[in-house]
Amino acid sequence: MIVHLRKSITESQRKEVVRRLGLIGAAIYYSPGTERTILAAIGDPAATRKAGIEELRGVARVIPIDTPYKLANREFRPDDALVHVGKLPFGGPKLPVIAGPCSVENRTDLLAIAHKVKKAGATLLRGGAFKPRTSPYSFQGLGEEGLSILAEAREETGLYVVTEVMDTRDVELVCRYADVLQVGARNVQNFNLLKEVGKSGKPVLLKRGMMTKLTEYLMSAEYVLSNGNYNVILCERGIRSFDTATRNVLDLSIVPLIHHMSHLPVIVDPSHGTGAWRWVAPMARAGVAAGGDGLMIEVHEVPEDAFSDGDQSLLPRRFAAMMKDLRKVATAVGRRI
Ligand code: PEP
Ligand code: MN
Repeated sequence: MIVHLRKSITESQRKEVVRRLGLIGAAIYYSPGTERTILAAIGDPAATRKAGIEELRGVARVIPIDTPYKLANREFRPDDALVHVGKLPFGGPKLPVIAGPCSVENRTDLLAIAHKVKKAGATLLRGGAFKPRTSPYSFQGLGEEGLSILAEAREETGLYVVTEVMDTRDVELVCRYADVLQVGARNVQNFNLLKEVGKSGKPVLLKRGMMTKLTEYLMSAEYVLSNGNYNVILCERGIRSFDTATRNVLDLSIVPLIHHMSHLPVIVDPSHGTGAWRWVAPMARAGVAAGGDGLMIEVHEVPEDAFSDGDQSLLPRRFAAMMKDLRKVATAVGRRI
């Protein structure tokens, strides 16, 4: 249940609310951004209903939450969450753009592309050092060497670093280099990994799986939130469908749906969503128009030589042209890039 406390609640009244909830074994989470006037009590629903919380002094309202996700529910946090990566907020009027190659391939190329995407207006740099490849014989990423190249690019450009972590054993390592931990589509229901990135406290970019329903997706976010990490950014990256004309079907309808059900920011990845560079810019524009809180775009200097996802990577000049057009769309929907 969600408990709204009155602004005028005294300390002893608040303690009594907490004590009563403790008696029935409910876990208590405070809603951030609301001056601690909202809390979620998560425990046995029947026991929480019977605890008589609504009769306590200082309690304004008690709302039962009938969705399985509680902390990701908009009831827990009625305003849009701002997730900060350093000084950069996701979920506000300015839309952050994450750009860079699918994989970190070598130092020279990564530094060069970092400067180019920055010049075009990106504020975060992407690049995988641990790659989830369908084939065990495909390039698996440079590992820690890749992470240190990303960190060097951050030093040079000031771009924040977003990179994937695939394994619970690597969370600490990736935390040392990255500003945002990406949990990829294939790991959206790797619950141990979700718990671990939750405990890390680092901002998490949680990508939707190719077969993840909205409720399942928000439950995955709930794993991170319930482990004490409220810094979750969601990302629509395309789902599987019957038509293979595009690599995936970019499900933009989930963007307004998420905004309706949850306070979490959601960005759009039209690169994996379409699988072909030609459709990336139009779907990026559509993503912004649909209310996306940012974009993730793959960019490569020589796409045909890319170690992974070359087909969907934009040339830097195309990325720059796309950014220009996006500014107009953003302005039309009351946002900025
Ligand atoms: C990626 O961002 O390069 C990636 C592997 O994405 P996804 O997990 O969405 O397939
Ligand atoms: Mn990729």
